[in-house]
Amino acid sequence: MTKKLMMLPGDGIGPEVMAEVQKLIDWINDQGDLAIETQNGLIGGASYDEFGNPFDDTTLEACRDCDAIMLGAVGGPKWDNVDYTLRPEAGLLKLRKQLDLFANLRPAIVFDALIDASTLKPEIVRGLDILIVRELTGGVYFGEPRGIEDLGNGQRRGVNTQVYTTSEIERVGRVAFDLARKRRGKVTSCEKANVMESGKLWREDMTALHAANYSDITLEHMYADNCAMQLLRDPSQFDVIVTDNLFGDILSDEAAMLTGSLGMLPSASLGTEGAPSLYEPVHGSAPDIAGQGKANPLAMILSFAMCLRYSLDQSNLASRIESATQSVLGQNLRTHDIMSDNCNEVSTADMGDAVIAALSNM
Ligand code: NAD
Repeated sequence: MTKKLMMLPGDGIGPEVMAEVQKLIDWINDQGDLAIETQNGLIGGASYDEFGNPFDDTTLEACRDCDAIMLGAVGGPKWDNVDYTLRPEAGLLKLRKQLDLFANLRPAIVFDALIDASTLKPEIVRGLDILIVRELTGGVYFGEPRGIEDLGNGQRRGVNTQVYTTSEIERVGRVAFDLARKRRGKVTSCEKANVMESGKLWREDMTALHAANYSDITLEHMYADNCAMQLLRDPSQFDVIVTDNLFGDILSDEAAMLTGSLGMLPSASLGTEGAPSLYEPVHGSAPDIAGQGKANPLAMILSFAMCLRYSLDQSNLASRIESATQSVLGQNLRTHDIMSDNCNEVSTADMGDAVIAALSNM
């Protein structure tokens, strides 16, 4: 059966790292076990330059028709003076909103070969493998009322509303529990139930969902501020962390930095059943190194591995790609961003080739 992927390389280093995923897909197709058909589309500044908007409706419809979407990165100084609603980032927000991508998955994995890149002591982060599931389409970033009002007397009032419904909490909860079932069987749910009603509801709904359908999983509740501390104190106590949009924004960046290397971090944003999900590296378009062959393609390649696991039902192949990545790092090959003593610096394309070579030798 042929799987259909939409490739949205975007701007800056996006096309460079996406080219390495395309090479990997060509290799997979050559093996003959799985057929992946790819289609290219524009997003971000590249789309603005072509269509006058950062994400065209025609491309959006083509995305809906695919099994999954791979995205490079958007943005860059070229579009800094473009109107806010037409900026490259607005294209990405439109894609996430239109596809109702409500669950953002950010793994934080410390590779043995890169353990010194972490600012934490090796004994704290060795073997770390945690997954943050962040609710992405609700909460304080979208709640109404919102705005800034003028109170007179030189005073203004800024308002945002933190709001969650049971169905929003349950659907992201299900994603977290289902993922924990395939991992080490533990979910830590984070909120501020001590001071926020939305947090109290979050805790009660997670507890009820757990009791009804997931009693085989260990559920632990933790206040979000304590979670921020525990991530630094003893991160390996966590398996899956599930939390809301705001706390997830902060905790996922904190967890990512435990690994110390932006060019290594993949992500997935999952939507409703039957709709395509989105896979993209955590990093941006890195305009400072674009076009120089210096970009690390591993975050993009690991995002593709997540796509194989979560959208294309190819867990074995995903694990092999992850092992190939480990193996390449074990051979002391490094792109510029993760370079260290006694290693060999390689280009974006060389790193992609090395991953394919490692896969071929497995
Ligand atoms: P960035 O992630 O693009 O770059 C931060 C630093 O990390 C830079 O020094 C860059 O060279 C380096 N870096 C990032 N990815 C790398 C990789 N794969 N290999 C080697 N080095 C890498 O963040 P920024 O500089 O704050 O933003 C640049 C542009 O990207 C902005 O326009 C921003 O809005 C956009 N951005 C887009 C996304 C996205 O598309 N999801 C995310 C973040 C930032």
